[in-house]
Amino acid sequence: MKEQLKKAKAIIEGYDGPAVRVMEVCGTHTHEIFHLGVRKILPPQVELISGPGCPVCVTPAGFIDEAVWLALEKNVTICTFGDLVRVPGSTKSLADARSLGGKIQMVYSPMDAFEYAKEHKDEQVVFLSVGFETTTPASCLSVKMAKEAGLTNYALLTANKTMPGAYEMLKDSADVFLYPGHVNAITGNALNRKLCEEEGISGIVTGFTASEILTAFAVLLKKFPEGNPFFVNAYPRVVTEEGSIPAQKLIKEWMEPCDSQWRGLGMIKNSGLRLRKEAQDFDARVKFSIPKMEGRTSPACRCGDVLQGKCRPTDCKVFGKGCTPLHPIGACMVSNEGACSAYYQYNSRG
Ligand code: SF4
Repeated sequence: MKEQLKKAKAIIEGYDGPAVRVMEVCGTHTHEIFHLGVRKILPPQVELISGPGCPVCVTPAGFIDEAVWLALEKNVTICTFGDLVRVPGSTKSLADARSLGGKIQMVYSPMDAFEYAKEHKDEQVVFLSVGFETTTPASCLSVKMAKEAGLTNYALLTANKTMPGAYEMLKDSADVFLYPGHVNAITGNALNRKLCEEEGISGIVTGFTASEILTAFAVLLKKFPEGNPFFVNAYPRVVTEEGSIPAQKLIKEWMEPCDSQWRGLGMIKNSGLRLRKEAQDFDARVKFSIPKMEGRTSPACRCGDVLQGKCRPTDCKVFGKGCTPLHPIGACMVSNEGACSAYYQYNSRG
């Protein structure tokens, strides 16, 4: 392993090919690349830009507004991942809602939310179902179990997203995409191969350890100068060609594609998932007749540009001044996977 790392490092440090823009689609990659010091060994012509793969960051303000409305107007117990609590909505975050008496329960998984609903039958419980292909199967499983258990006090507020639409939209933003291995572990590689063959989009699937990330960079820096679009699965110990069939089946059984609003990116056709008609008893929007929320963000915030790789977090005028992890103005500064939070945490000027 040490030898492999050494070899990868030597390839990266010795790169003398053309300039290349690499998009870390996934927020966890952004953080790990900072954390492992990969940026420090990259030659200057290798530019890293962040992408939209942070579920909290791309969840629109209107979704937070819906959750706040449920908590304050309908007395619903909101079960959510901790990251979402401080994400600003149009006027309030869930933390604000909590200070106004709303019941906001932090959970680590949809199954925790299901268990909470089972143990608190006198409360209406809604789980905030955000995330990509990796987290969606667990949300579906929680609905399946709620149905089997005959629960009538459990529902999802969905903002689940799928990556293909985003890849299409961002195809001109980078020369090479660093694809998130955990997403491909569910979806398989067919889509990425298609993007490569039909659209000429180059990309490489990678994991999250030092060796996996450095190997991916070494492979892409070998391939890029050849001038042909390429797709490589550099995470074969986890990612298979067909992905996880049971997870795909579970999603298909409970959810269907829909157009979806992405914070900063706008509406992307067929880039979201919602509960199927047959599961509408578990759809919070149907169950509580949630009114349409406009969802406004601060005009100072450039999360949209950050998420499309159009600017660095440090190009935002309020980065580190008005906007810090303690007092976030935008979602990218809140989430552990957010690019602004990574730049702030690692004290980077880009
Ligand atoms: Fe938005 Fe804050 Fe990032 Fe600026 S620094 S883009 S306000 S999250």
